[in-house]
Amino acid sequence: MPEPRKRSPRSPIRRCAACRRAAPKSELIRFARDPQTLQVLWDPEQKLPGRGAYLCPNPACFRLALKRHSLDRALKAKVEERVLREAQHATETPNPSP
Ligand SMILES: [Zn+2]
Repeated sequence: MPEPRKRSPRSPIRRCAACRRAAPKSELIRFARDPQTLQVLWDPEQKLPGRGAYLCPNPACFRLALKRHSLDRALKAKVEERVLREAQHATETPNPSP
């Protein structure tokens, strides 16, 4: 029996390359591989062309991705650590502890 599924065209489901959790694209961090240079870029607006891979906005997933090269594998390209760190830094929730 076919499973009736509601599709939300605005928020397709993507999978985190590190922990494999599925989540709406809008909740994940996108990385895109530039089709020309094959450089992997952080894509905060999720608009860049080219192949994309996703991570949860979660420090554990960034660590895992760095350690296991999950994004490199997902994108079949070398992901510079700098790019990951930049994205992680920007997505970290500021913690204004007194
Ligand atoms: Zn994850």
